[in-house]
Amino acid sequence: MNDRLPTIEIDHTTQAPLIDAHGRQISYLRISVTDRCNLRCFYCKSDDVRFLPKAEILSLEELDRVAAAFVRLGVRKLRLTGGEPLVRPGIEQLVARLGRHVASGALNELTLTTNGTHLGRHAEALYAAGLRRVNVSLDTLDRWNFERITHRDELDLVLAGIAAARAVGLEVRINAVAMAGINDHEFDAMIRWCGDHGCDMALIEVMPLGNSMEHYLPLDNVRAELARHWTMMPITYKTGGPARYWRVMETGRRIALIEPMSHGFCATCNRLRLTCTGRLVLCLGHGRDVDLREALRAGDDEELEAAIRSAVAAKPAGHSFTAGIRTADVRPMYQLGG
Ligand code: SAM
Repeated sequence: MNDRLPTIEIDHTTQAPLIDAHGRQISYLRISVTDRCNLRCFYCKSDDVRFLPKAEILSLEELDRVAAAFVRLGVRKLRLTGGEPLVRPGIEQLVARLGRHVASGALNELTLTTNGTHLGRHAEALYAAGLRRVNVSLDTLDRWNFERITHRDELDLVLAGIAAARAVGLEVRINAVAMAGINDHEFDAMIRWCGDHGCDMALIEVMPLGNSMEHYLPLDNVRAELARHWTMMPITYKTGGPARYWRVMETGRRIALIEPMSHGFCATCNRLRLTCTGRLVLCLGHGRDVDLREALRAGDDEELEAAIRSAVAAKPAGHSFTAGIRTADVRPMYQLGG
């Protein structure tokens, strides 16, 4: 499962980098800015989902402060997520604030993952704030299928959002969760569409985060099937995460496979997630998390950094997801920060 060696990155900070007990350097933090989302993807949340009281959610100032602490400790890539990050009031101000770390060279990249429905009105401000790439989660190009998956009829809004993002110069990667019997008949059409619209694409294996695994589709099978229709050249391109990339020669665009189930990438895991309530999730496949909100609200940066360091020391060696088994102590992606 853990077949790749960890990459130790050069440290630009004056502090010792964040290295866990398994020798992995933490360089990537995904920050959830809200648990709220306007879509109801069936594999992520139910229609009667209850969102957290607003008082429990970190303020924009707190998000900014905790992000700065991670940057001081050597994090080089920040991704804003949720819930749906673009429904958080003030998201543009937060992105603009965080953009200072990109401008100073402390961060290699600030990016965001979105369902795209609100991208149309935010694209310009995101670009101005220093974002250059966004991931747009889109599992289908078919309006009926979109509604079946998300329980909302908003495909047109997503497509308009992607067009707006491309128009202002943002690179877009379309992220699709690969699901047997749901969207596996659409992959060729999506690859073609991405080629025509200047987008990269990623297929992601569904994970057991409280959801059923009945549609689980191992991507090895998908890759073999795609290779019958497309010329896929393996490339070394990396985006700081677990995606493995190929170039689709017919379209010129990249396609990535993200295979947490069939090709675990725990040995090279450089990531942590911060929930919108300030809990640091050390591994998607373990319920264990660490509260940073108390240290954050105590007001002292040193205490906050110490809390981060001691949390990182406890990062598990790897997840133990097993297809077909619901793992009891994990939470859905919208709560964790997808
Ligand atoms: N709303 C934003 C979006 O749509 O990108 C960010 C949050 S969303 C939870 C992040 C990603 O998690 C989406 O691409 C979604 O498809 C994915 N996701 C949710 N539950 C999942 C699961 N059980 N397995 C794999 N991916 C999942």
